Amino acid sequence: MKNKPPKALLLFSGGLDSLLAGEILRRNNVQITWLTFTTPFFSAEKSVSAARLYNFPLIIAPLPEKAYIDVLINPPHGFGKHMNPCIDCHALMLKVAGQMMEERGYDFLATGEVLGERPKSQTSAALRMVDAASGYADYILRPLSAKLLPATAPEREGLVNRENLLSISGRSRKEQMELAKKWQITTYPSPGGGCPLTEKFFSLKLRRLMEAFKEHFSFYHAALLRVGRHFLLPQKTHLIIGRNVKENKRLIQLRLPSMLLLHPINVKGPTALLYSHDAPVVMENLEISAKFVARYSDHENSAVRILITSPEDRLNIVTKPAHPAELEKFRI
Ligand code: SF4
Repeated sequence: MKNKPPKALLLFSGGLDSLLAGEILRRNNVQITWLTFTTPFFSAEKSVSAARLYNFPLIIAPLPEKAYIDVLINPPHGFGKHMNPCIDCHALMLKVAGQMMEERGYDFLATGEVLGERPKSQTSAALRMVDAASGYADYILRPLSAKLLPATAPEREGLVNRENLLSISGRSRKEQMELAKKWQITTYPSPGGGCPLTEKFFSLKLRRLMEAFKEHFSFYHAALLRVGRHFLLPQKTHLIIGRNVKENKRLIQLRLPSMLLLHPINVKGPTALLYSHDAPVVMENLEISAKFVARYSDHENSAVRILITSPEDRLNIVTKPAHPAELEKFRI
């Protein structure tokens, strides 16, 4: 009787490296399922497009919120240049993937990582740290660089022939491009980008909101941070003002029932959300917020009427627009 092919879960970013890693294993008779994790910081969009295009099975799973927030508060291996805890982020993904591997009967994990392709997170020392922190070091196969790394359990156990794996390293993607051409992988997203934790201004906003909300900070707040202009008012009150029609609509979608909704009613202007995470919003903050919303409205230097809607009540505030210096005082 023919042996069943080994089964692997391949962490998939949607990029060329992980497509190639999957193709190498597929050509070695491994049955692959692609796995993409999501958080408010990274979505499965690229992976879904690639899965549709190349018609392969894809699991999309959220990373556990508490574990990820803990990593953001205090990453054991520190941050990259901004708020990106890359080593611990990867380690958490591989840990959760390892648990799925055990629960769902897969034989090993794989990734499209290439030794030395990224200066900090893909050195051999960084890969060793990720592997050790994940708890599944021996089960993580990196087909593109495997011959430059210690043999893993699937190689030693003969599930994959090490001789058929590759020894790519470094930042040049020449070998990957050649392989893609040879295997007719013609459409794939460009590498890198996309994670707001690597961006300076997003990281500053995130740090300030996390410091204000401490243990109450959640994925919900992180999702809010990806939309609009943000202001942190006294009493830990957070005001978000949409920058365009799309963001105004998104804010309405994200609004929780307890949040206040603000918009001008005598002129055109933005939608805004206002909330304080542990107490009702005080009058002083309603007035500041109305002034801020007026600033981004078509005010022509005259008074603007702002409607503030709560689940139980409605309030009108007629106000002059805030002075730009006032906005900067509270902007995060
Ligand atoms: S770039 Fe973002 S998603 Fe990628 S490992 Fe770093 S923190 Fe995680």
